[in-house]
Amino acid sequence: MADLSDVLKSLSYHPVLQDLSITQLLTFLTQSSSLKRHIILAQPAGEPTGNAPQILPPLVREFLANSTGIALQAIQDAWDILKDHAWAMSPLADCVEIERNAFRKFGWNQGFSACQFPAKDPTNYYFKALLSLFPPTDCCENPKCDRTTELKRDDARQVVVYTINSAQPAYSIHLTCDSKFVSLRNIK
Ligand SMILES: [Zn+2]
Repeated sequence: MADLSDVLKSLSYHPVLQDLSITQLLTFLTQSSSLKRHIILAQPAGEPTGNAPQILPPLVREFLANSTGIALQAIQDAWDILKDHAWAMSPLADCVEIERNAFRKFGWNQGFSACQFPAKDPTNYYFKALLSLFPPTDCCENPKCDRTTELKRDDARQVVVYTINSAQPAYSIHLTCDSKFVSLRNIK
């Protein structure tokens, strides 16, 4: 499989794909990868499924053009360059689990989504979560405030986030403006 520099070189030679943004590139890879089963279904029976098919089904081409913003006539060319990577990508659900494991293994001991409670108590314990809720903005929203830099003073509270699938522990990050002592909470 070609490595990243080969992929970028191939894209740079293409009159349309040379202008791809990183977001378009990632969207193309993740979405075409998640359509893998649909792409396989459109192939002739007996076609091996271990390798990416050469031709994308017309409906998938159209979907990818609409969802990525890449011109329809360039989608097959993008597939030619990126198909092996799309085929080898982990399903989205696996990516989420890989990310969670990375936080468990490498993030918690760095203080990402883990805090000591109470802060100076020797018998304290670490509250570990996989989710941190930040305010929708990093800047003070008080129109009278003269502070223009991002807010950095923060504290975290333990909260529970309810989703359609589960309830899970999380941190609610609270930013405070030093200038006017106006605070922003993570209300969305
Ligand atoms: Zn402020």
